[in-house]
Amino acid sequence: MARRPHRQTRPARTTPAPSPVSPSTASPCPCGRPVSYGECCGRYHVGPATAPTAEALMRSRYSAFVVLDASYLLRTWDPATRPNGLELDPTTRWTGLDILETTDGTPFHTTGTVTFRASYTQQGHPGALHERSRFTRHDGAWVYVDGTYLD
Ligand SMILES: [Zn+2]
Repeated sequence: MARRPHRQTRPARTTPAPSPVSPSTASPCPCGRPVSYGECCGRYHVGPATAPTAEALMRSRYSAFVVLDASYLLRTWDPATRPNGLELDPTTRWTGLDILETTDGTPFHTTGTVTFRASYTQQGHPGALHERSRFTRHDGAWVYVDGTYLD
């Protein structure tokens, strides 16, 4: 995910913005795998462990959006396409990740793609981001290159 979803016309805000989610390491991982955050994406966020596959990196980047870890998103971004900075919108609540398809991206590849649907609510309105992301290796570790929005 390169950026937050396109905003629709925004109705006047009637509820306070939700506070950022800070899961404990024992909470279920936001990426949806049936393991704790600390055993799953959290250990990549903390480092020095790095995601072994493009899918694991995709999951950990989704979880980074959930926990508002912009620095993780930037350091797992290909330097060739990485923005100078990233502001995450705390009013977007990411509610689920579905991995739909992967190509390559294993420990034996140097590139890969992950197609996913990430669900969210924004100002109480549900939405979904359907994207095919491209990944490559940089200094041995998987990094996000860019993504194509799908319908
Ligand atoms: Zn996870």
